[in-house]
Formats: sequence, C-alpha cells, structure tokens
Amino acid sequence: MSIKEIDVVIIGAGLSGLSSALELNKQKIPFVVLEARNRAGGRIHSINLEGDVPIDLGAQWISPYHERVKKLVGDYGLRLVTTYRKGKTIYDIDGVIQESEGAWPKMSLIEKVDVWNFKKELNSLSNQIRCDQPWESKMARELDQKTLEEFLQKHTYTKLARSFCRLLLEEALCSKLYEVSTLDLLWCIKTAGSIDRLLTAEDFWIEEGAESLVKRVSESLDGKILYGSPVKTINYEDHQAIIYTDDQTLKAKKLILALPPNLVARIKFAPPLPANRAQLNERAGLPSVIKIIFVYNNPFWRERGLSGIAYSNQGPVKLTIDSSPPNSKKGVLTALITGDFAQQLTDWSSQKRKEEARKNLARFFGEEAIHTREIYEENWSAEEWTRGGYGTHFSPGVITQFGKTIFKPIGPLHWAGTETATEWRMYMEGAVQSGERAAKEVIEYLNGGIFSRILF
Ligand SMILES: Cc1cc2nc3c(=O)[nH]c(=O)nc-3n(C[C@H](O)[C@H](O)[C@H](O)COP(=O)(O)OP(=O)(O)OC[C@H]3O[C@@H](n4cnc5c(N)ncnc54)[C@H](O)[C@@H]3O)c2cc1C
Repeated sequence: MSIKEIDVVIIGAGLSGLSSALELNKQKIPFVVLEARNRAGGRIHSINLEGDVPIDLGAQWISPYHERVKKLVGDYGLRLVTTYRKGKTIYDIDGVIQESEGAWPKMSLIEKVDVWNFKKELNSLSNQIRCDQPWESKMARELDQKTLEEFLQKHTYTKLARSFCRLLLEEALCSKLYEVSTLDLLWCIKTAGSIDRLLTAEDFWIEEGAESLVKRVSESLDGKILYGSPVKTINYEDHQAIIYTDDQTLKAKKLILALPPNLVARIKFAPPLPANRAQLNERAGLPSVIKIIFVYNNPFWRERGLSGIAYSNQGPVKLTIDSSPPNSKKGVLTALITGDFAQQLTDWSSQKRKEEARKNLARFFGEEAIHTREIYEENWSAEEWTRGGYGTHFSPGVITQFGKTIFKPIGPLHWAGTETATEWRMYMEGAVQSGERAAKEVIEYLNGGIFSRILF
C-alpha cells in the first residue's frame, strides 16, 4: 500500500475535528480528516421528521454563552430557534408530581435557601479552579477523592432540596452522582462560568437541525474528509506519525486526535502511549444516554398552560423539552433517558423502550401523550464510534492522578475533542474551542521557529 504524505491528519469529523480543519484551511495548511462513520458530526446527528422537519437525536441546545457555536451558525447561514418555555414545568420528585411556574418546584423558604447555598458552595469552590490545570488547585486532591453524592449529602440539609439538586446534576452529567468526582463537576462549572449557566444551557436550537451545521462545514472543506475510515494503528516518532486505516496509510508531521479518550484507547499506538496517558484513556468511559423524540399532531400541552418541560427522578425519562418546529403544526417532545436508567434499558428492544418512555410521558402530560404520530430514538451507548454521552465525567482520583496528560502533546500527537476543552467542557462549544486550540498548536509548530518546535 503506498504511503501518502500530508502535513496534518485529523482523526474524527465531529465538531471538534471540523473546527481544527477550518483553522488549518484558513492557513492553507494541507490536511486530511479521517472519520470512522459515513457522516460528519459524531455526537451531533439529526434526521428528517416524516421527510421534512429536522430533529436532533444527539446534541441540540445552545446557550447564549456559546459564542463560537453561535458564530458558526450565523456564518453558515442557519437560524436559531428559542426554546419554548412558557407555562408550567412538571416536577416528578420522589413520587410526587407537581406543576410549578418557573425553574424550581414549589418548596418552602428553608428548602429554597438550601438549594441556593448548595449552588453558592459549588460556584465558590469552582472559582478556585484553573480551567487548564484543575489538578493543581487548592484542595484538588480532597475534592477529587469525594464523589458528588458525598458532597451533596454534606452540603444539603432538606430532603426536597437534595433530591432536586441530585436530579438536576444527574441529568446534566448523565451519571449517578456516586460515579463522579466532585472535582470533575467543579471543573465543568468553571469552564461554563457558573452552575446556573451549566444547568440552563438549553436556550436555543438550530432550526435546520444541528447536523446541518456540520454538513455545511464539512462541505466547505472541499473533499478533505475521508469517511468510513476508522484509524486502527498509529506509529509515531518525535516529528512524524504514520496512520493506518484498513485501506489508507498516511504520513503526517502532525496529528490531531479529535475524539473522546475512551475511543483513543481503542487505537493501537507504536510505541505505546506513555502509561499515564494510556490509563487516562482507559478510565474515561462515557455515561449512558438515550434520546427519544415524540411527535404529535400539535403541541397539545401548550393549550393546557404547560411548557413541555418535565423533570423526573422516577424514570426512565429524566427530562422532556418542547422541540416543536416553528414552521409546522406538529408538536415535538424531546425526552432524555440518562445514566442508570439508560444503562438498564440499553438491552431492551427499541420498541419496548419507546413504549416505556411513552407511558412515562402520559404520567406527565396526560392521556393525549399516548397518541403519538411517530417516535424516534437513538441509544448512544450502542453507537460503536461514541459509546455514550454527553461527554466523559471522571470518577474519583482520575483527574488528580492522570488529568495532566489530557491536553499535553506527545511528539506529533495533539489532543482535541470536547473532553479537552477549557471552556464549556462536554458541550458543542467545548468541541469547537478544543479543536481551535489544537489547530493553533499545530499551526504554531508548522509556521513557527525553533521555539515552537521545542515546545510542541
Ligand atoms: C444525546 C446527546 C445529547 C447532547 N446534547 C447536547 C446539547 O444539547 N448541547 C451541547 O452543546 N452538547 C450536547 N451534547 C454533547 C456534544 O454532542 C458533544 O460535546 C460534541 O458534539 C463533541 O464533539 P467532538 O468533536 O468533541 O466529539 P465527537 O462528536 O464524538 O466526534 C468524534 C468523531 O471521531 C470519530 N471517530 C471515533 N473513533 C475514530 C477512529 N478510530 N478513527 C476515525 N474516526 C473516529 C467519531 O465517529 C466521531 O465522528 C450531547 C451529546 C449527546 C450524545
């Protein structure tokens, strides 16, 4: 097999790899993107509802603070829809279902103060963390030894406040709190700006579907993406790498790995990656998540004064949000099944999962929720080239022991992917930021003088 030579190879055509590609393209640096799937987007995937209206089965929502993603949306001529939030939210907490105006369930003043104080404590501790070196922070070791469940137990006092905070965090992280290190959450909070920003990042979505963004970006890259090309082996030395797929061999001066660490672990490296980096990859599994889309003739819940938002800790559905398309009469409810519920349902048939979730929706929105036109779903843990979502959350001890290897280039290998972001980790915004940062490292090396060659 002949070896093609190119300056840079990017592995992964998710938003992160595509963002690296855009930066290299601007500098006219020759590159190729190798993508395992037959489409771009990775954790972003949309389909067309009944052949016309796009819906998102993967990443969807954008916060007002996602400046890079909003810019891309504008640059590529796409439109943002504001998430429908008018009306009451349903809370199904510890078996009690209630409707409540605003972002909180009805609770006593003492319970409210309990929630406020918990969030205040999270914000205050996260402020002591450096986004690019959380392992160096004061108290890092102590915070990394504690699970979030332990932290929650210590810093909340009333049952309802504790259950409410647990529910919000479990949904945001896709994980049970006993699985995640407190330092991991604090790192995510710091990269988002505050706990409230992190918990309420569902303000907008892309009318044409999030995948239309990656489609337009990938089309603008002019044939530089090779689809259906999973990278199996990488041989590397100080200043070059040889990359093998089943039918391609490429030699590059630099390599950007824009994929989650759990998938880096599946690539064979020669020489093997340094032990601490390899261990980081092996300890970085993604939590389980299933996204289900319910389509109705109309958004019937709106007539009943409901926003379509429901939170539940009873399962399997943890959160629903109204995603009804603005230019259609159809009503769409997006449901997320996360963490242990998603893990339990993963072996069920798709039909059985949809049925179970539909019964769940009927509990929130009444009998009408049974009368769906269509139901679509994607079980992300079963996706060979993702294995979960939304992003990696580390269990206790991992960040302080192995974290410092997460961004550090190794010879020609540079790391991107939302897991390596220092702004909005685990979000699309983080994917873009990390892709741009990795591209910058590579561009500095290729264009730069001796100093950058020593640095990278
Ligand atoms: C169900 C779900 C809902 C989400 N909701 C939101 C949301 O509302 N808002 C938000 O901001 N974020 C959301 N996210 C998170 C968001 O999707 C990710 O943060 C972001 O898309 C990650 O992009 P990435 O490029 O870093 O990684 P990925 O999208 O995972 O891209 C990695 C790419 O690498 C490819 N690949 C893997 N292994 C190989 C290999 N060996 N060789 C070649 N290619 C390979 C994969 O196929 C993939 O295309 C959600 C995620 C999920 C799963």
